[in-house]
Amino acid sequence: MSGNESRFQAICQITDREVLPPKTPSRLEEMWAIDVFSLNKMQACLPKDVFKAIKKTVQSGGKLDVSVAGVVAAAMKDWAISKGALYYAHVFYPMTNITAEKHDGFVSVQSDGSAITEFTGKVLVQGEPDGSSFPNGGIRSTFEARGYTAWDVTSPAYIMQTDNGATLCIPTVFISWTGEALDKKTPLLRSNAVMNKAATRLLKLLGHTDVATVNSSCGAEQEYFLIDAHFANSRPDLLLTGRTLFGKPAAKGQQFDDHYFGAIPERVQVFMQDVEERMYRLGIPAKTRHNEVAPGQFELAPFFEAANVASDHQQMTMTILRNTAKKHGFVCLLHEKPFAGINGSGKHVNWSVGNATQGNLLDPGDTPHDNLQFLLFCGAIIRGVHMYGPLLRAVVASASNDHRLGANEAPPAIISVYLGSQLEDVFEQIKQGDVKNSAHAGVMNLGVDTLPEFPKDPGDRNRTSPFAFTGNRFEFRAVGSNQAVSGPLVAMNTILTDSLTWVADKLEAELAKGIGLNDAAFDILKEVMEQHSAVVFGGNGYSEEWHKMAVEERGLLNLPTTADALPMLKEKYIEELFERTGVLSATELESRFEVYAEQYLQVIEMEAKLVISMAKTVIYPAAFRHLSELSVTIANLKEIGIDLEKDGAEKVAALIKLMMDTLSKLDAALSKHDFGSIEEHMQYSAKTLRPMMDQVREYADALEGEVADDLWPLPKYQEMLFIK
Ligand code: ADP
Ligand code: MG
Repeated sequence: MSGNESRFQAICQITDREVLPPKTPSRLEEMWAIDVFSLNKMQACLPKDVFKAIKKTVQSGGKLDVSVAGVVAAAMKDWAISKGALYYAHVFYPMTNITAEKHDGFVSVQSDGSAITEFTGKVLVQGEPDGSSFPNGGIRSTFEARGYTAWDVTSPAYIMQTDNGATLCIPTVFISWTGEALDKKTPLLRSNAVMNKAATRLLKLLGHTDVATVNSSCGAEQEYFLIDAHFANSRPDLLLTGRTLFGKPAAKGQQFDDHYFGAIPERVQVFMQDVEERMYRLGIPAKTRHNEVAPGQFELAPFFEAANVASDHQQMTMTILRNTAKKHGFVCLLHEKPFAGINGSGKHVNWSVGNATQGNLLDPGDTPHDNLQFLLFCGAIIRGVHMYGPLLRAVVASASNDHRLGANEAPPAIISVYLGSQLEDVFEQIKQGDVKNSAHAGVMNLGVDTLPEFPKDPGDRNRTSPFAFTGNRFEFRAVGSNQAVSGPLVAMNTILTDSLTWVADKLEAELAKGIGLNDAAFDILKEVMEQHSAVVFGGNGYSEEWHKMAVEERGLLNLPTTADALPMLKEKYIEELFERTGVLSATELESRFEVYAEQYLQVIEMEAKLVISMAKTVIYPAAFRHLSELSVTIANLKEIGIDLEKDGAEKVAALIKLMMDTLSKLDAALSKHDFGSIEEHMQYSAKTLRPMMDQVREYADALEGEVADDLWPLPKYQEMLFIK
């Protein structure tokens, strides 16, 4: 079958398909967390003392006693088997964005040849996957390739149901034999622990005597595209890279805004309902769903949870989205920019910190005292984002996110903080040393306290800011749709830890001098603003003026590509931040740079190779067929005295030549391997290979606009985006 036949067949198959009748939704109470070995379930089946011990570990994140683990393991096994599981898996998150799992049977063969089910405490708590082929960035040398997994008790075990059976999944950290983090979970747990310590210290200085464990929270809004599988399967680029390497934008894009928040197409709604049921069974609180800006684009947002659990749940959500899409004949694209010319997909990471005794520490609160606390935490974040903005940029850097960041639909590649006009006004006045002259007089508290009071709702929203205060949390909007949220969470927790420590040190010193709490806090906030207000920006982040002003006047860094951003991880001050806070050792940080840089190079190389092969074997033949038809007809007509305009043929011929010439250059450019450093190689990929790939695409897309529709083999944008 030739490509174009398969393209038309795909269209027929989709339009002829039987519409699945929508399922009657189950009641939430019947589904909620039924596949999770939650504290409730443990309480029901564990002896009292064992339950008490495990509950304490879960809530404080401490070490689990081996004897306790044995009892828990036995109960967990019985529960899992009752749900049909024959296998268990230690699930871990290597430095790729994937979720890895190694499955083992509960089976144990006895000396008499019979088999029993077995699952010991030791096996629950620790595993030893052959992880030697996961990237480790040089941490594990070949003579010591072992890594081991250890149960993260703070994230509950669960059953993953698939058509091939059920598996008991145990969330784990993945570390080397020497204790170095080989994964994305370990640093997140560490960052949360050090943040708790720093926040607790500050809260105590602020006069609280009862301070519960402070935890970070995360609610990640996930954007994604749904494309019919018939289309995706006939596009090698979508199959291998998750994005279209070619494709002329359709006449209709998103300009009519008729998709955003519009009625969800029926087939998609049935899919979403299925996704949500799967999420509910796993205790993942799916909350919001709607159409996004681009046609074929949707969003799913859960209710926020403790960052560690939210991060595991986010990984599960991506898996569920992908797998469920297949069942409904869709392919779910989590790529940041699957289609040129229309919006890409991000993942807004909403982040806050708080505890059971003081509540959300980023909530302005009702009293001036709460306000003071809030302003100190908020000020700490401003300081952190200013000092370590390049780190925040580096943790969202990837080959795919490069297509999105800085492209007038997504946050710019310059990291700034949006506070909302009122909060910005408060901080500005603090900087001026006078909070009494408020532009919002009436809401300010001008009484005993020197610090102002203001309403909670920041009122306005700024979609062009990468890091925005949204009433009681910050929203990091530069994260890519495909990325694990743990990296960004680690960065935010770590810079906050550093800043809270700085604030606490200052406050302690001032209080010791006999300065009152309000005055001391005021001085600290004033200093924060004097040093760091350059990072606060409330205007249009897409504008050219901002790009100029940010760099030239405010000294902020504009890091447009991964090649520019990722090397920031090697900066001394970033290394010191991680070492000082104890979140990552220098070796661990270095290994992350190595792994992510390698991934970046691999993606671009793979895409470049595919550009070459698709242009040669798919686009060139189609264009050539078209050209032969044209030229034969033109010649035949000429013989009988009709001189048809031959411009069309000449244009196609010229485009083919341009495309093939650029292709040869790209091919030659790809063979260069003598780079002085990995940084140099990354720059080459970003500034030489990528533009050449874009150039090939430009000619190919122009050909798509010339070649007879029935000869064009690849599903077109209008088909992929609009046929459901
Ligand atoms: P919007 O699209 O307006 O940003 P959504 O309702 O789609 O808002 O998403 C907001 C996300 O922020 C949700 O996941 C929500 O649970 C989360 N969120 C709300 N409050 C907090 C908080 N205090 N800390 C962390 N996340 C929060
Ligand atoms: Mg949002």
